[in-house]
Amino acid sequence: MSEQKKTPFAECARLLDRLAETHSLSREEYALLVRSASPELASYAAQKAVPLRKQWYGTDVYLRGLIEISSYCRNDCFYCGIRRGNISCERYRLTPEQILACCERGFALGFRTFVLQGGEDAFYTDAILCELIRSVKERCPGCAVTLSLGERSRESYEQLFAAGADRYLLRHETADPVHYAKLHPPVQTLENRMRCLRDLREIGYQVGCGFMVGSPYQTDDCLAADLKFIEEFQPDMCGIGPFIPHHATPFAQCPAGSVDQTLFLLSVIRLICPHILLPATTALGTLSSDGRERGILAGANVIMPNLSPEEDRGKYELYDNKLYTGAEAAEHRRRLEERLQAIGYTAVTARGDVRYSKMENENLKGKNI
Ligand code: SAH
Repeated sequence: MSEQKKTPFAECARLLDRLAETHSLSREEYALLVRSASPELASYAAQKAVPLRKQWYGTDVYLRGLIEISSYCRNDCFYCGIRRGNISCERYRLTPEQILACCERGFALGFRTFVLQGGEDAFYTDAILCELIRSVKERCPGCAVTLSLGERSRESYEQLFAAGADRYLLRHETADPVHYAKLHPPVQTLENRMRCLRDLREIGYQVGCGFMVGSPYQTDDCLAADLKFIEEFQPDMCGIGPFIPHHATPFAQCPAGSVDQTLFLLSVIRLICPHILLPATTALGTLSSDGRERGILAGANVIMPNLSPEEDRGKYELYDNKLYTGAEAAEHRRRLEERLQAIGYTAVTARGDVRYSKMENENLKGKNI
């Protein structure tokens, strides 16, 4: 942890003002903001972030149907409950037919984006996934398919894109290679993670990166590196949520990340990339019953309710006490809509692509869309 002193509020506020104008700070300035965060500074950051978000997206909050397709994973990330080394984990895998049925159920509920997420499971070959993506697109016309299936070869990403996949979520987890090595075994490298992100971008996907807040060994400087990376990479989406320990991992005894720090970082990321699609994640909702609403009020604009089959939902256990019922469940969309309405926002199920083309930029700027 950094031992430097906190910078006074007024100076931090000036940095946030500059960030809202130029969308860029130095890594040192990001570190200073992270180090100096306070409730007062967080509320100032949110005050700057919310109007910026409204300029691009009005009060819309995009709903994505999340389908957790497999808890088999060849990787051994130290933080994750479905890591290969967790022998007490009850594994499940949805068949392509089951996944398709989930999408169709979601389509009937109004969802127009499906996020297929899972462990790195060799069962899902390119051939199986391509066929699945084609079928989803055929049976759910006009929908977007987002994949979150970890690291694959460039050729694989190319094939999946050619089959119709639109977006790919791959959290970079930490932009600091030394920190990355403390969270993963040596065979998993930041270099390959970044190679994947670059490939995905070049192929034409809308790409999402992201990281856990308060993961073990994370320092203010690690977070500053994450923010600088986001500024430089300009992702279309960014998933951040607090680290939450899982009882059967090497990090079982580590403290969870902070909700307040996550909220502050959501605001800062909104200031860096005004048009980014930024989810209020399940982890945030797990640590705080109104976490998702607070995420939206800090600058987030996406929520991903769970569309997995009910009997398997509890088994995709990335961390302890992960939410999957109530407003988390896609079937309870009305409840979620009401909760959003209560804070002045509107749930929308449209595809909701990121607004990022230069021309669109100019046409839409300033309009309350
Ligand atoms: N295999 C895919 C999906 C991973 S699960 C991939 O590699 O991208 C999605 C995200 O959950 C991970 O990227 C990680 O950031 C987050 N996650 C995993 N374990 C967690 C924990 N204990 N607490 C909070 N988030 C966690």
